Amino acid sequence: MNPRRWTIKRLLEVTAEYLKTKGIENPRLDAEVLLAQTLGLDRVGLYLRLDQPLTEKELSGYRSLVRRRAAREPLQYITGRQEFWSLAFKVTPDVLIPRPETEVLVEEALRRIPAGAQGMPLRILDLGTGCGAVAVAVAKEREHARVWATDISFGALSVAEENAALHGVAGRITFLPGNLFAPLAGLGLFFHLIVSNPPYVRSDELAELAPEVRDFEPPGALDGGPDGLAIVREILTRAPDYLAPGGWVLVEMAPPQEQAASAFVRGLGAYEEPVHIKDYQDRFRVLGAQKA
Ligand code: GLN
Repeated sequence: MNPRRWTIKRLLEVTAEYLKTKGIENPRLDAEVLLAQTLGLDRVGLYLRLDQPLTEKELSGYRSLVRRRAAREPLQYITGRQEFWSLAFKVTPDVLIPRPETEVLVEEALRRIPAGAQGMPLRILDLGTGCGAVAVAVAKEREHARVWATDISFGALSVAEENAALHGVAGRITFLPGNLFAPLAGLGLFFHLIVSNPPYVRSDELAELAPEVRDFEPPGALDGGPDGLAIVREILTRAPDYLAPGGWVLVEMAPPQEQAASAFVRGLGAYEEPVHIKDYQDRFRVLGAQKA
């Protein structure tokens, strides 16, 4: 077909219809985001040019992005970006795409880091940092904080390092490759706060996740073992060895894990009574425990 017949308006309509047939949740929005990316515009820019025809090259570039989305590749891996805490983060298939509910983890972390406190810098540890969203957001909000961030994936750490540089906090975050606390062995560091969004999906639930998650996001960032709590337990068990007196550990998990995780914390006898924090949809999401 003559590409000059394809205006932005018509192309968006047809593409949204097509993506809808592929089971895409927000077909019109995704059609717009991908076209904006192809044309180097923002979405408002598209609306200012609805009658503009596309060149052959623009059309074929757009088609290749739409094909990827139709195959259920997450929009964020196609654009390479996800906003979190109002900051633009680079994302690649090496990292879990930051979720809005994880902003609750940042909020609760900030609540426990006094703003503007001078003197001794606060030390914060982020376990399984992924793209670095939590570590970068916290570092950005608290200039006196020093952050250490670990991840077992080298690919993830390099994305996290880029994000720290992008947001001007690379000088205050130390990225360490390795599983959870392993890279800290022998460093003699104690933290005021330990945060983590670990893998917490039950292994038997992985196959039932949306294709975007199941087929594209790193399984190592999702799989929490038979009950989803394998890594959560490991973190809660070992955190007291790395916490300063009165320090807090904050761990994100799935709503149905609330009681099991809470009972586990009590059983450890190393913490005060745990606190249960809800996400923006009013579901339990983060367990907090202060070292006794
Ligand atoms: N919240 C994620 C999901 O919905 C799970 C993230 C995780 O395991 N840390 O898939």
